[in-house]
Amino acid sequence: MILPIYIYGQPVLRKVTEDITPDYPGLKQLIADMWETLADSEGIGLAAPQVGKDIRLAVIDLDPLSEDMPEYKDFKRVYINPHIIEYDETKMESLEEGCLSLPAIHEKVTRPTRIRVQWMDEDFQPHDEWVEGYLTRVMQHEFDHLDGKMFVDRVSPLRKQLIKSKLKALTQGRYRCGYKTKPVRR
Ligand code: ZN
Repeated sequence: MILPIYIYGQPVLRKVTEDITPDYPGLKQLIADMWETLADSEGIGLAAPQVGKDIRLAVIDLDPLSEDMPEYKDFKRVYINPHIIEYDETKMESLEEGCLSLPAIHEKVTRPTRIRVQWMDEDFQPHDEWVEGYLTRVMQHEFDHLDGKMFVDRVSPLRKQLIKSKLKALTQGRYRCGYKTKPVRR
């Protein structure tokens, strides 16, 4: 089932989420629905708060980028209880980001290019890896959502000022996008 994507201004997007256990009710269905929702919205990552759930869960699909980045061919992963435990800040990179919860807003964000992440996969098997490449960027964006943060929190004060009216419009339901959403009001 395609779920509506919660739009900037929805309180759940500002919650610090909780780890889950394998007996979390309806987990398999939720993951299946998140995949369907991500495909429908043509995104590459979706975090549980974006579909209204305050739990530590995200899905990432980098296959759409594989034409330019062949290493991500068929790359589709579920991240349960992910935590970034180390940031290698020796190399930072500024790249443009967008977000399904922030239609039509694209801004440059500076982030480390190498991070150490712990998570569980769909079978609740633990992983602990240093991650590099574009995935690092997407993970930081998605896992920020699990801490109640969004990429617009990380743009420069000047840029933040410049997009202020766009952000306000989102909280008032004034936007257009091609997928199902759940604005604060409309
Ligand atoms: Zn996002």
